[in-house]
Amino acid sequence: MSIDLRGTPVLVVGAGIMGAGIVQVAALAGHHVQLFDMREGAAVQALDKLAATLKGLVDKGKLGAEAVQAAMARIAPITSLAEARDAGLVVEAIVENLDAKRSLFRELEAIVATGTVLATNTSSISVTAIANGLKHPARLVGMHFFNPVPLMKLVEVVHGLQTLPMVAEAIFELSTAWGKVPVHAKSTPGFIVNRIARPYYAETLALLQEQATTPQVLDACLKAAGFRMGPCELMDLIGHDTNFAVTNSVYEANFFDKRYVPSLVQREMVAGGLFGRKSGRGFYAYGDGAGIPPLPVAVHEAPATAREVTVHGIGPIADHLEHAAIAALAPQGWGPARDLSSAWVGLSIDGARLVLTDGRSAQQLSRDLHCADVAVFDRPVVMPIAAGTALAYAVAPGASEAWRTQAGAWLAALGFTPLPLADAPGLVVARTIAMLINEGADAVLQGVCDEAGADAAMKLGVNYPAGPFEWLSRWSVDGVAGVVRALDAEYRGERYRLSPWLRRRAHHS
Ligand code: NAD
Repeated sequence: MSIDLRGTPVLVVGAGIMGAGIVQVAALAGHHVQLFDMREGAAVQALDKLAATLKGLVDKGKLGAEAVQAAMARIAPITSLAEARDAGLVVEAIVENLDAKRSLFRELEAIVATGTVLATNTSSISVTAIANGLKHPARLVGMHFFNPVPLMKLVEVVHGLQTLPMVAEAIFELSTAWGKVPVHAKSTPGFIVNRIARPYYAETLALLQEQATTPQVLDACLKAAGFRMGPCELMDLIGHDTNFAVTNSVYEANFFDKRYVPSLVQREMVAGGLFGRKSGRGFYAYGDGAGIPPLPVAVHEAPATAREVTVHGIGPIADHLEHAAIAALAPQGWGPARDLSSAWVGLSIDGARLVLTDGRSAQQLSRDLHCADVAVFDRPVVMPIAAGTALAYAVAPGASEAWRTQAGAWLAALGFTPLPLADAPGLVVARTIAMLINEGADAVLQGVCDEAGADAAMKLGVNYPAGPFEWLSRWSVDGVAGVVRALDAEYRGERYRLSPWLRRRAHHS
């Protein structure tokens, strides 16, 4: 048996930003749609706005005039829920409040048929909790759209403890028919996207808290890793109040697991009303010609002539470094040596070491390699590595003055845009991506989603350039586990707890 929701009359409750988007998508997909909002006039107002939006899309040639006219004719605002007794599907997009959602669904159960599927667009409340108290909790399911609904492809189909698999399957099929990409998710705090994304913000906030660098440098490094927006500009766009609230809700819902602890840096900004774009100031100032200031990039002299250069290690990054070193040394008429047996990736230059991060700080590497002149650089993740890629690096505190300038000069000569940082373990990109993978691994371990679901969700829900398991396949379990363990060793506590999913697959447990 299966439930087919295609063509069924839809009731959308809540005429806010999400409700209006859901109405648009459902009506364009051919459904008759009713829209209800408890605020008088809100549904009519939302539909007027929708008509204007659709007209704009027709003017731009993105939609046909006839299709839009037909869709608008299928939509009706209603002033009483009782008018929706024929709905085969209800999508709720009201205020994010458990009691409000529960009482709405109870009221609806008295109106709609027993076979009507009840879907909630909640972004953070347990679907199981919303269903509690219903006569038929098995028909309640999460249908979590992303903002803006017409543009964002992802729908998280959230299974509560009592959700009937057939009901979730029907929403999955319907989402596909609406041109979306659905992903199954278990009702757990943050579902998939809002959970796995936490480290993207948390690692940056942690680096800012320990004064490793500036928001601009962090944004530049992560954009070089393929993210469309850096974490600081993204938090400014989302609004620090909203972003902080989501982090808090995931933290509380996980019984205050230290892994998700919110940031003092962000709490102070929220307390001060520095919400980001909407308030005119966040990490950056907005309005009156202000905005994100250009990245201050140092000009590096050519490195001093070396007597010995060896490229260490294996893999695509080592290969790239070899090519880059060959090009850098060509004018002097010689090339680098290559040592494929080294356990580390990087360059030795007259005994000094330029090392790809494995999670250890430059200071730690300096101790472990018995070498004062050490610099560590971040992990380039976009392949092939483009000329001018922004790359964080740090020099060991005990390094000579000469090596301090030479480390940056060598990275520049190798084709990077080097950005100096305080000696933070795992620097920026390796640390952030390792923690995103770690979170994705834990989500899979706990049955929140599968690997493909995690990848699709992060790419389509928050536009990540790759999903956690795609990054993992291009890196290695041991490499990722090494970075997380090094962070754990440095910071102690639960925050950098390695996921058992990774530990079980790593060679060194
Ligand atoms: P919104 O504030 O823009 O709109 C909510 C609407 O619901 C308002 O028009 C309000 O009058 C109406 N409403 C409130 N209580 C009601 C009730 N009991 N009955 C009928 N109408 C009621 O909110 P939004 O941003 O559209 O969010 C709606 C839901 O979608 C929330 O659960 C939210 O967590 C979720 N969500 C939001 C986003 C987002 O980015 N905004 C993304 C995904 C999910």
